[in-house]
Amino acid sequence: MRRKSKIKAGFIGLGTMGSAMAQNLLRSGMEVAVFDSDVDKLEDFWSIPNCRIASSPMDAAIDADYFFTMLPDSEVVEEVLFGENGAVLKLREKALIIEMSTGSPVAFQDFRKRLHQQHIRIIDAPVGRTPGHAKRGDLLVLVGADEETLDEIRPLLECFGKDIVLVGPPGHAIRLKIVNNYMSMVGMVLTAETLLLAKKAGIDRDIAVKVLQSTTAGKGQINVNFPRKVLAGDISPDFPLSLGLKDISLAVELAKAEGAPLFLGGAARELFALAKPWGRSQQDCTAMLLLLEDLARSS
Ligand code: NAD
Repeated sequence: MRRKSKIKAGFIGLGTMGSAMAQNLLRSGMEVAVFDSDVDKLEDFWSIPNCRIASSPMDAAIDADYFFTMLPDSEVVEEVLFGENGAVLKLREKALIIEMSTGSPVAFQDFRKRLHQQHIRIIDAPVGRTPGHAKRGDLLVLVGADEETLDEIRPLLECFGKDIVLVGPPGHAIRLKIVNNYMSMVGMVLTAETLLLAKKAGIDRDIAVKVLQSTTAGKGQINVNFPRKVLAGDISPDFPLSLGLKDISLAVELAKAEGAPLFLGGAARELFALAKPWGRSQQDCTAMLLLLEDLARSS
């Protein structure tokens, strides 16, 4: 890779995450042309050396070797790339688009196909963690690319990322990001349901939180039981699915008596009840993964 001071980049989307990421790129000495449809977001950038305020995505794409997008969703990314003043009108052959938004994997593959016809490269590099991490340059960056391309851009990603993980070929990083966010968002509901149940059951909230933070439930099955049991090929019952059914049933019944709606709880009980007809009730609770794989195969 050339010295950073010789590299030219475009960066579109200077919101909560993108603003800090673009500023970290600029701090490395790169020349960056920035654009955001909200002019207020440009304010912090006027005084930064090496920064050019672009008038459109097309303008930001002029001379860019690398073109970053950090936008709300795939519809906006499509507009920025292919719209009336879209970047593809000026991006040169072999330029690399680094799409960092959390968007649709289907839309990403469509962009990739369309850009391939114009000899423009695109990879997916969605980020994890918080706006604070973006400011400190400590983001998790998931990369969907070949190794050669990652080697090429690693110094750029390191301007805002501390942990850079090559997930697989283009399109795989955004898939993993969605998998992660599925767990995160369902975890929001599960945590809220759990705290509601504790409150309705008359438990002091501070005590409930403290206890849950110390148990396997709170620490997360992905950290505690799954790696040492089903993922290690061991489904001998430390705690069988039959006992899991008993416990989830107790919770659902308590919730019913106390007037706490448990949406996930009802679905979980149905799944635990399926363990018996599928011949898995005496296997470890983590064999829930195998039960779901059974169900996926049969659907
Ligand atoms: P944001 O809404 O703060 O920023 C998006 C920016 O895009 C805004 O400044 C907006 O004005 C700009 N924009 C919208 N339409 C545009 C257009 N047509 N042309 C140019 N600019 C346009 O969002 P964010 O929090 O920075 O998140 C960006 C992406 O990163 C999202 O996909 C989000 O899901 C993901 N993400 C967010 C976080 C977080 O903690 N906020 C963490 C990880 C990933």
